[in-house]
Amino acid sequence: NNKKIINFSPGPSKLPEEVVAKVQEELINYQGTGISIMEMSHRSPEFMQIVTNAQKEIQQLLNIPANYSILFMVGGGTGQFAAVPLNLMHSGGKAVYLNTGIWSSKAAKEASKYGHVVEIKPDLETSSEIKWDLDPDVSYFYYCSNETVQGVELPCIPDTHGIPLVADMSSNILTKDFDITKFSLVFAGAQKNIGPAGITLVIIRSDLLGTPSPFCPTILNYTVMAKENSLHNTPACFSLYVMALVFKWITQQGGVKVMEQRSASKSQMIYEVVDNSNGFYSCPVPASVRSRVTIPFRIQQGNEELEKEFVDEAKRLNMIQLKGHRSVGGIRASLYNAVTVEEVAILVNFMKDFMKSKL
Ligand code: PMP
Repeated sequence: NNKKIINFSPGPSKLPEEVVAKVQEELINYQGTGISIMEMSHRSPEFMQIVTNAQKEIQQLLNIPANYSILFMVGGGTGQFAAVPLNLMHSGGKAVYLNTGIWSSKAAKEASKYGHVVEIKPDLETSSEIKWDLDPDVSYFYYCSNETVQGVELPCIPDTHGIPLVADMSSNILTKDFDITKFSLVFAGAQKNIGPAGITLVIIRSDLLGTPSPFCPTILNYTVMAKENSLHNTPACFSLYVMALVFKWITQQGGVKVMEQRSASKSQMIYEVVDNSNGFYSCPVPASVRSRVTIPFRIQQGNEELEKEFVDEAKRLNMIQLKGHRSVGGIRASLYNAVTVEEVAILVNFMKDFMKSKL
């Protein structure tokens, strides 16, 4: 069955077709070694080269200065919800969490096991500007740059007046150029824009290393991981290998700025249909914080029967994974880097046709 599927999955998500083809080509015999990556020692020269190349590639893509460490860890975004406080919160300390949706809320809940969490909930209806009372005693300020479920993406980086800034960029890293030097720590699970599930990218400013909590598990310890170049134990070898191919693909496409242009075009195409549909489609998110990558929308303000019909009909046309997250319902189109402008154009045409057929 070779039918061409258009995959709008929120994660694990579509990988660039060229990357999947390369994986297939190298699967059984990796570069003449006679074995596959899955069967290779993580301490072999071939694998060490993959790690080094991946670090170099991401360093160039995001323009990461030498005073940052690039780590490849396990445990996904959820692992980082614990790793961040376990490494950065001083004992008996506190941290500020900006609550913009499900994922920042889960991170705050996890952190509250280890210290005091001050949660702030911005009113995104009135302003995307973040107002908070500066407290010099907090260890860090945490936010999620793109709430995958709610479809909320903050358009600017919060100004924390020198308080270390930590961001969960799981769903929008590498889709937009940003100044890494504004951040003390950035992390992202791989399974949306980076590669297969199983590997987590962590970029941390080196001066934050060295003071983990005494009960921080070694596997989540940034200081150990940095010292041992992410090879303290066996990494997610296969995922790391595919991640390196995705980084290379982004570079070959023209880098993060090209991804940013494509993300802008793709999301505008969808929002245009929504906004010109006379209320047939609607997006629950205030315009100033609408996501460019995970776009939730409703049909007739939440007509579940029609929404189901939309998702089923799309599936019949080979467009899959458009159902909204189970906690919010509706429809969601995830437009990560591997989803092409052409694929989004097909979805947009379908949205127009579907609306016409119901009027
Ligand atoms: N943060 C964000 C923004 C996410 O979208 C997700 C997963 N969808 C997570 C964290 C949790 O990631 P994981 O499933 O890798 O633990």
